[in-house]
Amino acid sequence: MIDRYGRIIDYLRISITDRCNLRCIYCMPAEGVAWKPHEEVLSFEEILRLCGIMAGLGIRKVKVTGGEPLVRKGVVGFIAKLREIRGIEQVTITTNGLLLEEFFDEAGDAGRTLVDGVNISLDTLDPERFSRVTRTVPDAFARGQGLPAILRSLDRVQSLGIPVKLNCVPLRGFNEADLPGLAALARSANRAVRFIELMPLGSANSQESIPGAEVAALLERVYGPLTPYPGKLGNGPAEYYSLPGFAGKIGFINAVSEGFCEHCNRLRLSSGGILTPCLSSDTGMNLRNMLRGGASDAELRAAAAELAAQKPPSHNFSAVYEREQTKHKSGMYHIGG
Ligand code: SAM
Ligand code: SF4
Repeated sequence: MIDRYGRIIDYLRISITDRCNLRCIYCMPAEGVAWKPHEEVLSFEEILRLCGIMAGLGIRKVKVTGGEPLVRKGVVGFIAKLREIRGIEQVTITTNGLLLEEFFDEAGDAGRTLVDGVNISLDTLDPERFSRVTRTVPDAFARGQGLPAILRSLDRVQSLGIPVKLNCVPLRGFNEADLPGLAALARSANRAVRFIELMPLGSANSQESIPGAEVAALLERVYGPLTPYPGKLGNGPAEYYSLPGFAGKIGFINAVSEGFCEHCNRLRLSSGGILTPCLSSDTGMNLRNMLRGGASDAELRAAAAELAAQKPPSHNFSAVYEREQTKHKSGMYHIGG
């Protein structure tokens, strides 16, 4: 699909659940999250049908996300079926990493080829800050859960030969001290560590972002000059750099200070079946109602194409910041980060 600004739309991010086993302070409220009732969540069969239709429209790459995608039962079998859809060339997941060991245990020998890449979110390497940012019990470290489980998974995914990217959201007054250590995870191993600017969604306005340029300057003071990497890593908007002596790359997603919309290639499908053209969209196309109302493939295809045609030229996050409020009440866990 090519939208009215000439962008090729070939990437679909699917949130398979809005539920999560963590409560990151910038993503979800501490309590009182109203989960979508089960009957409002698309079944795997419904998602697979939509993906087949979207593949017919030119979607080639799919990201499975959430909420936390690995809390949904049957996710291994779902991903295996997703891979079989004609036209889908790449399937990746974004996860907080807590259940990755179980995921690969269940996948068994198929694990090596089940996904083409794993993004793991990790905002700190400090156990105490980890439990604060994720609002988890502080003794999880002692029990080998939480942060240790994520670090074990990191090695396991890497040992399977699956490309890994780490995502960190820098928060002022919270994890500045962790940023060099997180970046260093790309020193001895060929993995990407990416720093994502906080976007004004959901619970984000309780935190202050650190612009990517500031993070870059901090890393340069510790490790030396960042050299732009001309190659492409993955499907996202990150700009990648090399650091002296680093096997992997450092990425920046400067979503707010710089924007990345000019080359945006994606649509998003929420767990409730709403197809949206942009992270900052307030509205979308309710494909669940269409699916359950008996729409034909041709009707669903036309609806998805119409939605893609409405893709805005850019997000409106800067305007949101100027008004000093979080316009978008939905957090990333709702939209599908
Ligand atoms: N639970 C999975 C995880 O944490 O990776 C997948 C969903 S999560 C919503 C996807 C990504 O969105 C995570 O890397 C998280 O750090 C990021 N995220 C959540 N809220 C954000 C915000 N307001 N601004 C920027 N990134 C955010
Ligand atoms: Fe859950 Fe991911 Fe949001 Fe953290 S960022 S609360 S892990 S959905």
